[in-house]
Amino acid sequence: MSVDDQELWKRATARLTTLRADLAGDVELALTTVLTRYRQTKEVLAAVIADVDAADVCRECRGACCLNGKYRINVCDVLACIAAEALITPDFSQKPVCPYGTASGCRMEPGMRPADCILFICVAIDQKLSPSARLILDEQERVLRECLHEASRLTGEPLGTPLLLWAGRNTVNPNLKM
Ligand code: SF4
Repeated sequence: MSVDDQELWKRATARLTTLRADLAGDVELALTTVLTRYRQTKEVLAAVIADVDAADVCRECRGACCLNGKYRINVCDVLACIAAEALITPDFSQKPVCPYGTASGCRMEPGMRPADCILFICVAIDQKLSPSARLILDEQERVLRECLHEASRLTGEPLGTPLLLWAGRNTVNPNLKM
């Protein structure tokens, strides 16, 4: 039986909630610290982009990069949302609008958005970046990837995998604890 995206999302988020609850106390604490840093780093990256009037650029192009975004959110992004109690309910039926947004923009705060979305820089925005902004972006991207690596090590899961692909791989047996 094939499983639709809404069901995959539901199973994956339930499994991540269980995964966190099953971690040893010190590991859970370390994971929470890493996930907080992951979210804060995304906020810093988004603020650098906002500083170059990204809102104007996005308004003019009407958010074309946000269409068909269902695979952009990775397991770590969702785990960070769960840890912050800020998980949204996506709508996978509104294609080509991203399931995590609306026609007028993203439904998630910058710190909760997919790392892929936060790291994506279109040509129009790239042309507006100063050398110092580029340095900050490079450094913060390195921090973000470090967090992803550390969170994966702590959980023993490949957290950089798109959530829906990870969920698909882990839902072959419907009797598995999800
Ligand atoms: S998650 Fe948000 S920022 Fe990313 S593609 Fe979807 S609407 Fe756009």
